[in-house]
Amino acid sequence: PQKRDTRRNMEASLTARDRVGIQDFVLLDAYTSESAFLDNLRKRFHENLIYTYVGTLLVSVNPYKDLDIYSKKQMDTYMGVNFFELPPHIYALADNVFRTMLSEFNNHFILISGESGAGKTEASKKILQFYAVSCPSTKLLNNVRDRLLLSNPVLEAFGNAKTLKNDNSSRFGKYMDIQFDHRGGAVGGHILSYLLEKSRVVHQNHGERNFHIFYQLVEGGEEDLLRWLGLERNCKNYRYLVQGDCAKVSSINDKSDWKTVQKALSVIDFSESDTEHLFGIIASVLHLGNLKFEADARGYATIKNNQETHWLLGIPNQVLQQGLTHRKIEAKTEEVLSPFSVEHAVYARDALAKAIYGRTFNWLVNKINESLVNQDSSRKMVVGLLDIYGFEVFSVNSFEQFCINYCNEKLQQLFIQLTLKSEQEEYELEGIEWEPVPYFNNKIICDLVEEKFRGIISLLDEECLRPGEATDLTFLEKMEEKIGGHPHFVTHKLADKNTRKTLERGDFRLLHYAGEVTYCVVGFLDKNNDLLYRSGKEVMQHSKNAIIKHCFPSSEPDNKKRPETVVTQFKNSLVGLTEILTSKEPWYVRCIKPNESKQPAKFDDVLVRHQVKYLGLMEHLRVRRAGFAYRRKYEIFLQRYKALCPDTWPNWKGTPAEGVRCLIKHLGYKTDEYKLGRTKIFIRHPRTLFATEDAFQV
Ligand code: ATP
Ligand code: MG
Repeated sequence: PQKRDTRRNMEASLTARDRVGIQDFVLLDAYTSESAFLDNLRKRFHENLIYTYVGTLLVSVNPYKDLDIYSKKQMDTYMGVNFFELPPHIYALADNVFRTMLSEFNNHFILISGESGAGKTEASKKILQFYAVSCPSTKLLNNVRDRLLLSNPVLEAFGNAKTLKNDNSSRFGKYMDIQFDHRGGAVGGHILSYLLEKSRVVHQNHGERNFHIFYQLVEGGEEDLLRWLGLERNCKNYRYLVQGDCAKVSSINDKSDWKTVQKALSVIDFSESDTEHLFGIIASVLHLGNLKFEADARGYATIKNNQETHWLLGIPNQVLQQGLTHRKIEAKTEEVLSPFSVEHAVYARDALAKAIYGRTFNWLVNKINESLVNQDSSRKMVVGLLDIYGFEVFSVNSFEQFCINYCNEKLQQLFIQLTLKSEQEEYELEGIEWEPVPYFNNKIICDLVEEKFRGIISLLDEECLRPGEATDLTFLEKMEEKIGGHPHFVTHKLADKNTRKTLERGDFRLLHYAGEVTYCVVGFLDKNNDLLYRSGKEVMQHSKNAIIKHCFPSSEPDNKKRPETVVTQFKNSLVGLTEILTSKEPWYVRCIKPNESKQPAKFDDVLVRHQVKYLGLMEHLRVRRAGFAYRRKYEIFLQRYKALCPDTWPNWKGTPAEGVRCLIKHLGYKTDEYKLGRTKIFIRHPRTLFATEDAFQV
């Protein structure tokens, strides 16, 4: 790629500054002012310049329209070019991560954050596409590349849905490792998924949909297939598809998405029988949803309309019927069947549908992982992409939002530890004079949620251990009793007069780092228990469907042993995630949503200001600005630039630190441009390093 003239670029950008703003917030004159920050973002947004840097962190504002900046030509332009030499772009970040990985032989991750609809998933796809195009290619590598790319439409079909915030909202968290060999060829990958929002399978709020795949199948499935599955081409006929009353969405083409998914499945090694079983399951969930129960003379549930579920699941009808209307309980020496009431049967049916879908989703992720396994055992380097559900506030927030927002607290905590805190600690360690920048540390909120014995999660789990006695309301009371005095927690009872007006009796409110969220406790215990009756599970073990058989193994511990609650499993998986991330070099993409109405060219100041605040951008900027954009170990700096000074070239005899001193004296660095620490040189501004790089090129 053509090398750019950095200085000429920078001068040009100075004259264009008024119109297009500044491409790195670190260069902003009034850098401490939030309004100046916002002005710059707005200016650039209206010029379709959606990307801006804060040092090496990339801020991205969702344009809500297609921009012509993701072509192959653009990718080529950004390949192998220094970070600050071209206008900010997600490709520049991806390229920089890639090249740093190759030169330093280490692992990296890119944390993409922002609220629902801000553009995280799109950003992660752009990064993946960039790697797919820029990596070395061979037939074998191309095969891996195609699988990496095509895993996306499949996972989105099964794990994304239309919500009020986003027509393609990710309803699961996703961490994906892309593995590279020492030449930079993409040789494999691995996906971890986090807490799929299973409740969506059986219930959707008004204006929302179930997972895309259901609509894709009903709208796009071939005639033969639908006939075989006993489905009609009409979403309205399926109870699980119409509760949100918006089966059709203008921005979504279920028919063509269906074709994409079919093609993707075939590339990632799904055999004909796999797909047959998979869609058998999807259809059976729809049929399950349509099952109705009525009370017999004694008030017990019987199935009113017999559907085709049983043969799709490959289970004898009798067995399925019994499993849906009875539960097994242990008497002294034998097991007896206890019949359900209608209400109970409906609950058991929905629990079964959720379990089937949730487990099938996990199976799908495993299956994709099998197809991404790298056969070569030589040392690999990875770039991890984290695209996890954004902070979420609806008018009614439930257990799912609680988990999602807790996850966002944890990621913010990680960001603080890896940047704000570690950056400042590094200055201290290196003996660099430094005026600490204050920032809000959200550890207090993480503790409120997850502390042993007295955190919300502990209290919730404790209540889940008292079946029959505990209710959602006793959980609320317990919280009031144990954490009532916490500054980030309030309920109707605890609130002052004014706040009380905004809280219902069954609500609790958390003051998250990103803002207040009021949660309704109804359903917390149920959703956390995620109870699937043993009889339901056992019925599934009769299945002839290979996927179901795999998902409900007969060796699974039954209800006698208490399984971990949903929130505890989630908490543990986040601990695992934090470990994965802290062993790697961090990079950040911060996505911002410009308006609530998904419209192009609309920049809502209040909304954006709020996100700038809670994404910690101002603090990050202050630390960056007051600090040093670049730091290099003396050895590395000297090694790279020693040819620029006759005294250090070809071999410097003294210590690396002295060599660097000599080198920068020769280069004429001004004293306020750099600082010398114990082991590293710190350079305040990218400009200085560019000039040095330029001198190097000449
Ligand atoms: P969630 O947390 O709900 O999953 P998200 O942050 O992943 O949200 P995306 O699905 O990436 O949000 O983006 C929402 C929508 O915004 C996209 O479907 C697309 O229409 C639009 N969008 C996002 N980024 C871009 C972009 N760079 N260019 C054009 N449109 C975009
Ligand atoms: Mg998403």
